[in-house]
Amino acid sequence: MSSKKNITVVGAGLVGSLVSIYLAKRGHKVDIYERRPDMREADIIAGRSINLALSDRGWRGLEGVGIADEIKKIAIPMYGRSIHMKDGSSTYQAYGKDNQAIYSVSRGGINMRLMDLAEQQPNVKIHFEERCDKIDRRTNELFFHNTNTDTTSHVKSDFILGSDGAFSAVRTQMQLQSDRFDYQQFYIDCGYKELVIPAGANGEHLIEKNCLHIWPRGSFMMIALPNMDGSFTCTLFFQMEGKVSFEALKTKEEVLAFFKQEFPDAVPLMPTLLEDYFANPTSSLVTVKCKPWVWDEKIALIGDAAHAIVPFYGQGMNCGFEDCVVLNELMEKHGDLNAACLKEYETLRKPDGDAIADLAIANFIEMRDKTADKTFLLQKKIEAHFSAKHPEKWIPLYSMVTYTPSIRYSEALIAGNKQQAIMDKIMMMPDIENKWDSTEVENAILKSL
Ligand SMILES: Cc1cc2nc3c(=O)[nH]c(=O)nc-3n(C[C@H](O)[C@H](O)[C@H](O)COP(=O)(O)OP(=O)(O)OC[C@H]3O[C@@H](n4cnc5c(N)ncnc54)[C@H](O)[C@@H]3O)c2cc1C
Repeated sequence: MSSKKNITVVGAGLVGSLVSIYLAKRGHKVDIYERRPDMREADIIAGRSINLALSDRGWRGLEGVGIADEIKKIAIPMYGRSIHMKDGSSTYQAYGKDNQAIYSVSRGGINMRLMDLAEQQPNVKIHFEERCDKIDRRTNELFFHNTNTDTTSHVKSDFILGSDGAFSAVRTQMQLQSDRFDYQQFYIDCGYKELVIPAGANGEHLIEKNCLHIWPRGSFMMIALPNMDGSFTCTLFFQMEGKVSFEALKTKEEVLAFFKQEFPDAVPLMPTLLEDYFANPTSSLVTVKCKPWVWDEKIALIGDAAHAIVPFYGQGMNCGFEDCVVLNELMEKHGDLNAACLKEYETLRKPDGDAIADLAIANFIEMRDKTADKTFLLQKKIEAHFSAKHPEKWIPLYSMVTYTPSIRYSEALIAGNKQQAIMDKIMMMPDIENKWDSTEVENAILKSL
């Protein structure tokens, strides 16, 4: 028998808003507490990257609450990478086959739509400007500070879901009130800063619209994703400290000289480069792994609160949306949001959260170091060729992660490592540049599988 619970969701971000809809549709009463003001009224776009790459795992999450078609109308398909070299030339690499795409969507746009949809459920209420400071494990009480009125309050809840992001207060409380809470956090040496390529005079995109643009430069890179208004959001991923780093670029002259040297084709398209560079924050990139995600049937973590990852696979939100799908399937399977359901949720999702965290770090190296590398490009070409001939035997890692939700992240990681070991041998074959599409190479791969 399913019992309807009073559920408190902490954080009305992307994942908190979506999971609340799933919970409400199952009849639970949901109160969401969000520390920020209502972005729909305050006209604030929720910080950090202002557009995101949405792919198949994320679409599944949106389809489950019937919102995918609506979001598709404000999403721009990106069918491949456009790689911009230092000499101003560019090359194109398709992401998948048959026009497979990832989609550029506005973070604020999706978040606001998800909040609207959550509030349309009669059993959901969002409380804004309520920062969760503490929870009490024994009583399942939460303590809030209202940042507008400077007052405090507390509520008791049957179930608490922490969807409060990478620096989750719920997770911190779990850590403080547990005997054996595993927690690992690490920063990469790069941070990021958002910049902009504005639209052309007639609102047109000034570089190819349906691509994710990358300027790979070894230890750093810039990327650009298209927006509906004709602009691109550029993100510079760059060392925080050192000789060539955010720290080292202090003056306008230094910034301009650096951009002219590294991104000569982009500079003429970025008229507000210097203003943006000095006005926009430099933010850091963290990976968080933790365990447990669940306390009995009382408290659980979801989204970045459970698994913050670096953005280089474009999977943080997608993974969080997939958490929602899996949790929903398990509520169906177990008939309720009970201990068995939550235990299986953790058992299934923790290895996947860890796997995508590792894959995202690996993809950082691929994007900044390898997308301009000839051997790497040849390897990708061989894999695509082989995969087209033997789709049942070989799905490239990127396609497994991005387009194949039926393959778990943890399975994709294992399969990807096996494939890489095979490709390492193939790339050592003499004269591989000239016989990459030969039967000899095909048979060598088939033999290794
Ligand atoms: C530069 C960058 C680029 C990215 N690009 C992509 C991409 O292309 N594709 C992709 O899939 N993912 C991407 N991500 C990852 C994605 O942004 C996150 O995975 C996603 O936002 C996680 O959603 P969430 O709801 O779990 O957390 P968040 O979006 O962080 O939301 C957490 C919410 O909780 C609230 N909150 C926090 N603390 C409290 C508290 N104590 N009390 C109450 N409320 C609280 C916050 O205000 C916020 O609204 C990117 C991330 C970065 C940094």
